[in-house]
Amino acid sequence: MLKDIVKGLVDLVYPKICIVCRKKLNGKSSVDSLVCMECWVKIKKNLPPFCCSCGRHLEKNHFTKHVCPACIKNKLHFDRAFSPCVFEGVLKELVHEFKYKGKDYLGRSLSRLMIEFIQEYNLPLHYLDLIIPVPLHNARLREREFNQAEVLSNHIAATFNKKVLTNNLIRHRPTRTQIELDEENRLLNIKGCFSVKENRDIKGKNILLVDDVLTTSATSSEAAKTLKNAGANIVFVLTLAN
Ligand SMILES: [Zn+2]
Ligand SMILES: [Zn+2]
Repeated sequence: MLKDIVKGLVDLVYPKICIVCRKKLNGKSSVDSLVCMECWVKIKKNLPPFCCSCGRHLEKNHFTKHVCPACIKNKLHFDRAFSPCVFEGVLKELVHEFKYKGKDYLGRSLSRLMIEFIQEYNLPLHYLDLIIPVPLHNARLREREFNQAEVLSNHIAATFNKKVLTNNLIRHRPTRTQIELDEENRLLNIKGCFSVKENRDIKGKNILLVDDVLTTSATSSEAAKTLKNAGANIVFVLTLAN
């Protein structure tokens, strides 16, 4: 009761605003008192049919192939990737705030989109032994203070009662932002940048690799390749957006 009164007073002095549109939030029609519903419903969902490799929406003229043209050209090392959203508009802004503005608390709302996707499409989480967040290089982790992939992984793991394994898959050199590079240089940029510390924790395991965005598939594919080389059985990838 007293807590509610104090909270009410704080809200009066510092009214909460939507992270995206900066409009004043009215408690009930917001997501976790962070984003207004008007903004939240603008998040573009990734809709089926999905490419059986990278998980992106398949355009009509590719329906019969099950795999998108990019994945026919470049074989990816994970077994399959999934993403609930498209990386644009509101979601792009939210990911930016989450990753670069230190708003780790946004992870709860954002991970819910991933959790709902798992439930809606019945992703076979019961087959999976481990969740591994795509690691950041130490220098970047110090700068950012948290690994956004780990925050998302922890929420997903708590919902589905899974184990999160960190500090085993290691990123041992920082990589330039993939967005700035063309396809060939993206692959070179990322090649050999991951390693596994203890193969025995990976061997024979079915793994869900989690990251925030599947910008190109190069990072997840390289991480999956490293896990497979260490003996992983299945590697699925789940990102918030693609
Ligand atoms: Zn808004
Ligand atoms: Zn594809």
